[in-house]
Amino acid sequence: MATTDRRATTLALAHALSAAERGLAVIPLARTKLPALRSPHRGAPAPGPVPCRGECGRFGHGVHDASTDPARIRALFAAAPWATGYGIACGLPPHHLIGVDLDARPGEPEPASSTALRELALRHLFTIPPTVVVLTPGGGRHLWLTGPPDTVVPNSAGRLAPGIDVRGAGGYLVGPGSRTRHGTYTPLPGTAHLAPAPCPRALLRLLLPPPVRRAGGGEPVAGGRGLVQFVLAAHEGQRNTRLFWAACRAYENGIGPALLTPLLEAARTTGLPEREARATIASAARMTTRRP
Ligand SMILES: [Zn+2]
Repeated sequence: MATTDRRATTLALAHALSAAERGLAVIPLARTKLPALRSPHRGAPAPGPVPCRGECGRFGHGVHDASTDPARIRALFAAAPWATGYGIACGLPPHHLIGVDLDARPGEPEPASSTALRELALRHLFTIPPTVVVLTPGGGRHLWLTGPPDTVVPNSAGRLAPGIDVRGAGGYLVGPGSRTRHGTYTPLPGTAHLAPAPCPRALLRLLLPPPVRRAGGGEPVAGGRGLVQFVLAAHEGQRNTRLFWAACRAYENGIGPALLTPLLEAARTTGLPEREARATIASAARMTTRRP
């Protein structure tokens, strides 16, 4: 193995141990950002109705391997000498970490995801508190927040807004100091010493799955008002993605048909041709109804 790789592994272990000291459970990651240790059950699933989450006693169960115990962390890294980074498990006590992952496209001076988060904050009246921010090699950012112990925040991709992913229970964040194929994750200067701040309540509500609503009731359409607003507030470059996103949420929540006309109307107001809007909504409907 190349010396540089060994040095990367040693560095990753050091960063992982210091994260663990702060109460964050970690696993070794490969350059690909995936867990460095492969499943011992690949090709032959463990017997039983529930997939093994480490009950077999071996390493290789992804985020379920995560630990704050220095001895176990050293053992994990010893088993994965090719690791160059580490992942921090979300949703675990004591911090119940929530990661807000703001994507960036190459060359974006101000990522659209950051703008979208600011718009959400304005609309839902919350402010992002000073907290740990990690810069990704691609120009994105991870905001670290903590959740209440009694609430399970699910992982989601693009549910808050396009370009914003959320890492919650069962997910992990690439830790600062990790080296990946695309570069190194680094703390935003001035935030490394901070403790992750509690997630604002209004934001937390947006991160939770919407309550299941009965089809045909009066409330569903009221619940869709935010979606219509979201489409109405679109700039020219966002009209289609916003409409698609809103339509997906509507169909997921069983209010797609009820919201068809309001969404079309909103899209037309933003200047999107009706034919295009109908096609976008139809593809959102197909995508969401295909899921079990
Ligand atoms: Zn197992």
